[in-house]
Amino acid sequence: MSITDQIQKVRSEFSSDLEKLSSDNSVLDKIRIKYLGRKGLVSALFVHMGTVSNEERPKMGQALNALKKDIESEIDAAISSSSDSKNQKLLDVDYTLPGDPINRGSIHPLTLVMEEIKSIFNRLGFSIAYGPEIDSDFYNFEALNIPKHHPARDMQDTFYITDNILLRTHTSDTQIHFMENNNPPVRIIAPGRVYRNEDVSVRSYCLFHQIEGLYVDKKVTFAELKGTLDYFARELFGQNVKTRFRPSYFPFTEPSAEMDVSCIFCKGGGCGICKKTGWLEILGCGMVDPEVYKSVDYDPQKWSGFAFGMGIERMAMLKYGVQDIRLFYSGDVRFLRQF
Ligand SMILES: [Zn+2]
Repeated sequence: MSITDQIQKVRSEFSSDLEKLSSDNSVLDKIRIKYLGRKGLVSALFVHMGTVSNEERPKMGQALNALKKDIESEIDAAISSSSDSKNQKLLDVDYTLPGDPINRGSIHPLTLVMEEIKSIFNRLGFSIAYGPEIDSDFYNFEALNIPKHHPARDMQDTFYITDNILLRTHTSDTQIHFMENNNPPVRIIAPGRVYRNEDVSVRSYCLFHQIEGLYVDKKVTFAELKGTLDYFARELFGQNVKTRFRPSYFPFTEPSAEMDVSCIFCKGGGCGICKKTGWLEILGCGMVDPEVYKSVDYDPQKWSGFAFGMGIERMAMLKYGVQDIRLFYSGDVRFLRQF
C-alpha cells in the first residue's frame, strides 16, 4: 500500500472512531493514544517515510503533517464541545511539566552509628553475633555471674514475661550463647536492642541499643583492652580525642572500668554537655570474670579475655549533638531528614 493510501486509511479510520466519541466520551484518551501516542498510527507512518523516494518525500511529508494537525485539532474540538469534565481535564494537563518530587527516605541515625561502630571493629577482626531479645534468666543474669538476689539486678529494671523469661536488659546474653556454641578463641561484637523498665525521659527510654564486644584468647591482657578501645574511640570521634579509664564495677568483669573520651564539644576545656569536667563517659569494659567462663565450660586457667559494652543512643547523641533520646523513636521526619 502506498503511503498516500495509508494516510487516507488512517484519516477515515479516525473519522469513524471520532463518531463513536459522540456516544461515549470516555474513549477519547484511547483515541488520542491510538493516533498520536508514541507508538500510535501517525508515528508509525512517520517511520515509513524512510521508504519514500526523494522526489516524493516533501509532498508526503506535508500530507502526513496535515494529517497529524487535523487529528490534533479535531480531538481538541471534540473535547471543547464535550461537556464531559474528565475530557475537559485532559486539555488542562501540561505534559511538559516536571513530575512531582519523590520523597526519599534517609538512613536512621542509630543505624548510621551502629554501622560505623561495626565497621571499626570489623577492621580489627571482630565478627558479628546476634542473640535473642527474649531470653531466659540464665543467659541474661545467672551465667553472667548475676545470681538471684544479687544487688546488680536492681541496677537493671527488667521486663519479665514469666518468672524465668524476660526481655534482655543488655546484649551480654549473646556472649553466653556464642561461647556455649563455639570454642575459643572468640572475637565478636553483638549489636542489638535491649529493654529496661525505666521512666521515659530526655535521657532514658524503655528500649535502646547496645553493642557488646568479647575477646577471648590465651594470655589476653588489660593493655590489649585499652589499645583496642583507644583505637575505637579515635576512629569514631576523631584522631585528637583522648581516652581515660576509671575503675568501676560489673558482675561479669574483674577488674572493670569505665572509659571516658575527652569532650568532643569543648575539646576538654569544660562545657555544659560534659558538666564542666572535660570528659564524656562512653562505655563500660573489663577483663571477663572467671565465673563467666565456668558457666560455658571454658577453662579459666587456660583462657582469658575482655568484654566491653556501649549504648548506641548515647554514641549517636554525642556524635550528632542530639539532646533528647526520644527523638530517635518519634518518627519525626523533620529530625530524620537531617541525616
Ligand atoms: Zn565539654
